[in-house]
Amino acid sequence: MSGDAAAATAEARLHQARDRVAAAFADGGDLAAAVPGFAARASQREMALAVFDAIADRATLVAEAGTGTGKTYAYLVPALLGGGKVLVSTGTKTLQDQVHAKDIATLVRALKLRLVTALLKGRQNYLCLLRLESAGQDERLPTRESALQLRAIQRFARLTTSGDRAELAEVPEAAPIWPLVTSTRENCLGQQCPRFEECFVYRARRAALAADVVVVNHHLFLADLALRDDSVREFLPAADTVILDEAHQLPKIAADFFGSGWSLAQLTDLAQDARAQGLAGAPSGANWVALTQELEAAARDLRLRLAEAGMAPGTRTALPRCAAPASLARGVQRVDDALGALAAAVRAVGGHSAEVDALDPRTAALRGEIGGWIAAIEALQDGADLPGRDDEDGDDARVRWIATTAHGAQFHSTPLAPGAAFARAREQQSQAWILTSATLTVAGSFDPFLSQIGLPQARTASWDSPFDFPRQALLYLPRSLPSPSQADFPERVAAAAWPVIDAAGGRAFVLCSTLRAVERVSARLRQFMQEEDRVLPLLVQRSSTRRALLDEFRRSGRAVLVGSVSFWEGIDVRGDALSVVAIDKLPFAPPDDPVVEARIRRLRRLGRNAFMEYQLPEAVTLLRQGAGRLIRDERDRGVLMILDDRLLGKPYGRAVLASLPPFARTRDEDVARAFFAVAAAA
Ligand code: SF4
Repeated sequence: MSGDAAAATAEARLHQARDRVAAAFADGGDLAAAVPGFAARASQREMALAVFDAIADRATLVAEAGTGTGKTYAYLVPALLGGGKVLVSTGTKTLQDQVHAKDIATLVRALKLRLVTALLKGRQNYLCLLRLESAGQDERLPTRESALQLRAIQRFARLTTSGDRAELAEVPEAAPIWPLVTSTRENCLGQQCPRFEECFVYRARRAALAADVVVVNHHLFLADLALRDDSVREFLPAADTVILDEAHQLPKIAADFFGSGWSLAQLTDLAQDARAQGLAGAPSGANWVALTQELEAAARDLRLRLAEAGMAPGTRTALPRCAAPASLARGVQRVDDALGALAAAVRAVGGHSAEVDALDPRTAALRGEIGGWIAAIEALQDGADLPGRDDEDGDDARVRWIATTAHGAQFHSTPLAPGAAFARAREQQSQAWILTSATLTVAGSFDPFLSQIGLPQARTASWDSPFDFPRQALLYLPRSLPSPSQADFPERVAAAAWPVIDAAGGRAFVLCSTLRAVERVSARLRQFMQEEDRVLPLLVQRSSTRRALLDEFRRSGRAVLVGSVSFWEGIDVRGDALSVVAIDKLPFAPPDDPVVEARIRRLRRLGRNAFMEYQLPEAVTLLRQGAGRLIRDERDRGVLMILDDRLLGKPYGRAVLASLPPFARTRDEDVARAFFAVAAAA
């Protein structure tokens, strides 16, 4: 066949495939025939064709699809029909499970495809058989309960085929036993491991490599992209299409993954592993007890120095703001010396035991990170420029900062322009990338997102929600609210929200910007309920797990749930159980946070408007996510309350309002209360 004839055949095949995508979404098409309740929607079909074109052109498409567009099918159908290997990444494990178990399975049946699919999670989700063996003899079993849980895990390990800890519901997700029976990149022996062939982590990865469609989450995807984990590095080049759902989360997650860091917990884990493995694998090679005890003592000493420098638990402090750099320098140096001594002992007994040898790259990686901190602290003491300082204007500018917990501390180095690293990684891949979410624009513009993610040249397209928002929902902006900076703001928020929550008979989410506000708003709401003799279940974040609170909310049908940021996204409560969403204020990131502060400073130095380019778009995206909890399908009705006067009082309020769905609007409490009577009659 001549070159022209081959090109014509390829072109004809492409047209056929495109027609098949369009036909799948038509009335009477494959989806209508096989998916119960499927209704043909023009916006869904248009999005599917735009995705198909991007796949055919190996382009980057950034696609916003309003709630109800059906974007999951709109990206899956062209990807599955396009042939080749598909990698789908989601923001949350919940969506990851749903896309794999429900959406892809349904479409494979509906489109009569023969495809192998796989779900791949991060390694910490799978049991590590080697660590499970040694956990029984471990001095570290934290509690009596841990011993019982360990026995349950041992039983589970004999029965499971996947090793996925999510299948073992009787051991809670946050149980302290899990780190002892799962692996990290640092402590996994990989191919040197005696359990490698039967290892759950590597079995899952081999299955994913062989599959046609793999569903991962953004943490795993970015670990791959940032070359954080050698073992998953093969995935990306092998994929013909990459789909990133919940893409609005990428800039934040990318900052974590393209950053670097170390923690005191890593030091104590290393010390404990080195003691156990040194004594077992090379008992006479070194004084393992003394070496590892010195490392633990150095970690404790450093934590103490941070406390003496005024870093209270739960705070985040930029390195240049550290009050006692000389003390910090001594503490970090002691850790490095202890690691150096341990590294020398490990190397001296090299080749005796795979477990002991595996300690070498671990100590080296930690010393590499810590070396950067020693240099940065020295430069700070000298008043000289910091290496990797946050006052660089280049794409690789970073800020170093310390997060402290009750007993630990993490030392971070975070990029100030994570989009640059994301874009570099994208450039190295030649397949199509589809980034999609319901919330990517601010007042209709993709520019802030494209700039944050470093893809200013990407194709963009958006599809509005098919819902009848002006009829289904009301945006209520109460009159005469105090400024959010006023001391009694949370109580005033509760007072303004309560009449509408009461009129709705509960059925409300109250979304607050901070945990402190959650406490105060919920306390005041409880008072109102007592004073007015209303019996409504009041569910407050931290009183139980997120999942248990949401289950109770759905079950009750008349509850009031008060939560902070983790309740603003990824929650789908359909029907009458959720009819009010009250948002206390525009969720601006705290400007004194070390990363936020450094980013603002950097943009200002570059002569850019940090507020309009960074702070406002981030707040609007989160606000849109919070508001998006209210109307989840065409039968939902409800009131969105935003209790922040800046929406109408500040010049930027217009951009915020233009970013929200076109709900009917009122400032009148009576109208908001009456909405529920009208809704009931309707
Ligand atoms: S290969 Fe790694 S994760 Fe698998 S059993 Fe061995 S140490 Fe554990």
